Amino acid sequence: MSTALVGRPLSTEPATVAWCAQRGHPWTTYNPWADRTWCRCGARQSPGQMPPDWGAKWELFHDHPYGVPCRCYLPAAQRVSQ
Ligand SMILES: [Zn+2]
Ligand SMILES: [Zn+2]
Repeated sequence: MSTALVGRPLSTEPATVAWCAQRGHPWTTYNPWADRTWCRCGARQSPGQMPPDWGAKWELFHDHPYGVPCRCYLPAAQRVSQ
């Protein structure tokens, strides 16, 4: 196991663990360097790239209603013009 060597973009705060457990530890984070996928709190992980849980990812990373067109991943310049 080499996971200790990899900076894991996770939080293990109780609120985060509760959020994650409520949703069954959905896959939210894939690290291509480690070729490994984590749930948000890290309790669940798997080698390789697992299909992400888009609902959970939306809750974590998006600041607009679910289902509307997403511009979160566009450069800021393109976001203002739309
Ligand atoms: Zn979790
Ligand atoms: Zn979005």
